Amino acid sequence: MERIYKKAIKTWGIENQIDMFIEECSEAIVALQHFKRGRIGTEKVCEELADVEIMSTQMRIVFSAKNIDKVKTSKLKRLIKRAKKEVLWKGTRE
Ligand SMILES: [Mg+2]
Repeated sequence: MERIYKKAIKTWGIENQIDMFIEECSEAIVALQHFKRGRIGTEKVCEELADVEIMSTQMRIVFSAKNIDKVKTSKLKRLIKRAKKEVLWKGTRE
């Protein structure tokens, strides 16, 4: 599968693929707003999210998956801490 992503980057170049990622992110943002207003269904949202994931995977190759995962791990640890705090805080309110 990774071969397809690398082929896309090689074919269209890094700069174009970054532009495509930006474009797909904006399409997903618009789709989510339209979904919230009941103008489109989940199928269209999934289509746009799939586009973002495809481009996101290419960005992982461009910007180093290893470095992204390092940051991701520490952010997920922080998220767990925050979620635990939230649960504890909610527990004191109820
Ligand atoms: Mg799209």
